[in-house]
Amino acid sequence: MIIVAIIYRIVNVTRCLLVDIVSFILRSHSGGIPRPGEISLAHHGVLFLDELPEFDRKVLEVLREPLESGRITISRAARQADFPANFQLIAAMNPCPCGYLGHHNNKCRCTPDQVSRYKAKISGPLLDRIDLHIEVPALKEDELINASVSEHSQPIKDRVERARAKQLARQGKPNHLLGTKEIEDHCETTDAGLTLLKTAISRLNLSARAYHRILKVARTICDLSDETSIQPAHIAEAIQYRRHDI
Ligand SMILES: [Zn+2]
Repeated sequence: MIIVAIIYRIVNVTRCLLVDIVSFILRSHSGGIPRPGEISLAHHGVLFLDELPEFDRKVLEVLREPLESGRITISRAARQADFPANFQLIAAMNPCPCGYLGHHNNKCRCTPDQVSRYKAKISGPLLDRIDLHIEVPALKEDELINASVSEHSQPIKDRVERARAKQLARQGKPNHLLGTKEIEDHCETTDAGLTLLKTAISRLNLSARAYHRILKVARTICDLSDETSIQPAHIAEAIQYRRHDI
């Protein structure tokens, strides 16, 4: 938290970490002196990008480095600076330019070409670094009115805290920080789970990065279910979260 305070001191801001503007790169361009942008302001927090395809593709590609390393290097003229940028990325986008593709009101008039151009604004390498892709369909009127009672937040919070404590006790860090060798040590699955994963990698043409990320997500699903070893069901669930790759 001291590092976060220093970053905020450098750019002289005090505000919420939740941002939806492109200034994370513009700030870094100002005055020729590298300064922490929104990516670093989100250090140890959340970087929320709404309407993801509306961002300039070059800006989005900048995210690849910190998503991998937790750091961002800014070079300006003869100066170069390295800032911490370990954040949780949350992004939202519509299914098509008008937002109604797949909606029960059938209002979408986008052509298949417009839809694929819209989706192509998010590059494969960036998608590859996003572990959970979740589609949230619009609710029909009666579903909205007769909404069933979902699980309360407190038991969910307790479950997450238990899973996190289990990770720290097992390997001294949360699952998402595991390196390749540590994944081998702590994300072992059954033969059936491994076969399922290999089939998915070859059929869906997933990268080596996706392979390791799926194992880490499966490890987390396993921890949340309070089980010890990663089962094929955990692997299957982790694979289906890569909806956009599928
Ligand atoms: Zn549409």
